[in-house]
Amino acid sequence: MSIASNIIELKKQLPEGVQLIAVSKTKPVSDIQEAYDCGQRDFGENKVQELNEKASQLPKDIRWHLIGHLQSNKVKYIVPFVHLIHSVDSLGLLEEINKQAVKNNRVIDCLLQFHIAEEESKFGLTMEAALALIEQSKSMQNIRFRGVMGMATFTENQQQIAAEFKNLKKIFTQLLSEQMKNNASFDTISMGMSDDYPLAIECGSTMVRVGSKLFGGR
Ligand SMILES: *Cc1c(COP(=O)(O)O)cnc(C)c1O
Repeated sequence: MSIASNIIELKKQLPEGVQLIAVSKTKPVSDIQEAYDCGQRDFGENKVQELNEKASQLPKDIRWHLIGHLQSNKVKYIVPFVHLIHSVDSLGLLEEINKQAVKNNRVIDCLLQFHIAEEESKFGLTMEAALALIEQSKSMQNIRFRGVMGMATFTENQQQIAAEFKNLKKIFTQLLSEQMKNNASFDTISMGMSDDYPLAIECGSTMVRVGSKLFGGR
């Protein structure tokens, strides 16, 4: 199977309103170009340096998504062009994004990353931390919250994965009805990867981040 046919097949499975982010980390620019040539425009990377190197070699209308953990000192390298940051998980990081956004005269779209998995190692906010962060971000004019992002536990247990995805959907709904009720742009639930995207869609995902199923194993 070619990358192009993988993309076309996967897109056929996505209901209307669910967006595909092609996760191209570790893959060469030629693979991204192949996906681009069959119409894919949204690509996800998890490392700032790799994202920058690829962006400089590829068409300018690609929408780049930063999906991995982001360190504050690297924010300045992506703010000039990034389309959506999926991994906001601290106030310090958000402050730095806002500061660089002001400098670049841009408003940066951000997702709040929640810790929904059982594992200790996964990054992400608790509800309590998110509420504090939202409260403290009120004066940040160059941040636009678009929704939430989460990663399920790495397990075969489908019921557990479904419960974690449903929890993220519930968090989104709660924020939308309260803290974000005046934010018409709060519309995104980023969840689901190669192994669990069909389940994520059943649980309310609006944006799936799929890598190995499109580009092969890493
Ligand atoms: C690598 C990665 C993905 C894609 O994973 P696949 O299993 O290859 O589809 C999605 N989201 C994040 C945050 C990742 O780091």
